[in-house]
Amino acid sequence: MSTKNESTLDILRGVPTGVFINGGWRDAETNATFQVHDPATGQTIADVADATPADGLEALDASVAAQKGWAATAPRDRAELLRAAFDAVIARTDDFAALMTLEMGKPLAEARGEVAYGAEFLRWFSEETVRISGRYATAPDGKTRLLVHKRPVGPCLFITPWNFPLAMATRKIAPAIAAGCTMTIKPAKLTPLTTLLLAHVLDEVGLPPGVLNVLPTSNAEAVTGPLIADPRLRKLSFTGSTDIGKRLLADSAQSVLRTSMELGGNAPFVVFADADVDAAVAGAMTAKMRNMGEACTAANRFIVHRSLATEFATKLADTMAKLTLGPGNETGVEVGPLIDQQSRDKVHELVEDARRAGATVLTGGHQLDRDGYFYAPTVLFDVPEDARILREEVFGPVAPVITFEDEAEAIRLANDTEYGLVAYVFTRDTARTLRLSEELETGMLGINVGVVSNPAAPFGGVKQSGLGREGGIEGIEEYLDTRYVGISDPYS
Ligand code: NAP
Repeated sequence: MSTKNESTLDILRGVPTGVFINGGWRDAETNATFQVHDPATGQTIADVADATPADGLEALDASVAAQKGWAATAPRDRAELLRAAFDAVIARTDDFAALMTLEMGKPLAEARGEVAYGAEFLRWFSEETVRISGRYATAPDGKTRLLVHKRPVGPCLFITPWNFPLAMATRKIAPAIAAGCTMTIKPAKLTPLTTLLLAHVLDEVGLPPGVLNVLPTSNAEAVTGPLIADPRLRKLSFTGSTDIGKRLLADSAQSVLRTSMELGGNAPFVVFADADVDAAVAGAMTAKMRNMGEACTAANRFIVHRSLATEFATKLADTMAKLTLGPGNETGVEVGPLIDQQSRDKVHELVEDARRAGATVLTGGHQLDRDGYFYAPTVLFDVPEDARILREEVFGPVAPVITFEDEAEAIRLANDTEYGLVAYVFTRDTARTLRLSEELETGMLGINVGVVSNPAAPFGGVKQSGLGREGGIEGIEEYLDTRYVGISDPYS
């Protein structure tokens, strides 16, 4: 047995591979399994239970049965449970990080960063649990009294992507627990193991049976479709591509299901003439290269003032060219593999399209000749406006640079997309910062920073980047219904 296999076995020790329904682990109804791979080698690392539609309905039954009792628990008890879950995840940082690196490919340092970020949703929402409040008011006529209070939405379905296997799960699970909702989660088939370990930890800290159910499956639509169509389900929260999000919205319309949609992005990264170029390059490295560019928040279009475009692009290319690529668990590795062959082919296709359209490749532009799905960090200069890479989410380590002459043109270029998740701006002009915060069509804006994600802030997009917000004081509202009670004049 190779050292690699031994270390893989070590990482997988204690990680469940079944379906988790009503507080118990078991095989799928048909005993079927599907394989999970290490994107750094392409090798199989685990066989995971392949949930069926019958398993799905059993999970929904369990969450429906648990809903009433769970909603009636004391907020303080739910808060303490979330806090215990935060402590438990942090205590197992190395386990979660190694597992995420193994199934998703990100370098260990980034995986540890995701554990800190993902766990923070558990702590943040433990603190929000005891702050759910309402109001009591006298109506304008001076007679009727208005009582407004918040109720948990009810049983939820969560569908999550593979790029942030822990954080995309906790960003939904934590506010749902806080609000008193029960839930079923279907993790991405490429990275189900992290969610399974999280469920194990939540079970260990005392989450009651049925509150959280997990359905790994290779057949997403067949398993989640019947749940979305079931009138007992009250909420769908989805993170993934805009195409699938649109389909799920259409399905949800049949029963007017409440939905939260965290969809794709095409983030502009705008550098004004007054910016500190070195700070902008450092910010660009974070905004582009975090998670190998496989992030909905990844900067996709670098829109740089003509006066410093060459300096910016050259420095960015030099910095990108020095990055160390390799399996994420190796010391010194800064860039891991892409998730699979299909993703890597798509990245290369967009690079080739830009090259054919006249863009100059300053660095990269090719895949690596080694096992795993590695793609060289790439900078494209003078990319024509009609190149596909400026319209489509590249989801890889490729930075296309285009130029602008004045603020109006920068805003036009930044807004020239159907997406509106996040924008990044580098400038030292405060008045411009305020103007842009009003003019840019985006749910989030980073000023002189390359990362905006923060559990204490409302994460989410406008336009085709989605509906709803996760995190912040807004995040729990996605799991609460507002109930109004009209009360007759108490003095009459
Ligand atoms: P995806 O293909 O849309 O898949 C996301 C999830 O949906 C996976 O669990 C997938 O299951 C499931 N799914 C696919 N087809 C389905 C169907 N017909 N019915 C029900 N579920 C279905 O997206 P991805 O490739 O995993 O993730 C990348 C995308 O997510 C990018 O567009 C990125 O921008 C977006 N994203 C957005 C945010 C945000 O907060 N806005 C955060 C992270 C990622 P399988 O795994 O079985 O295919």
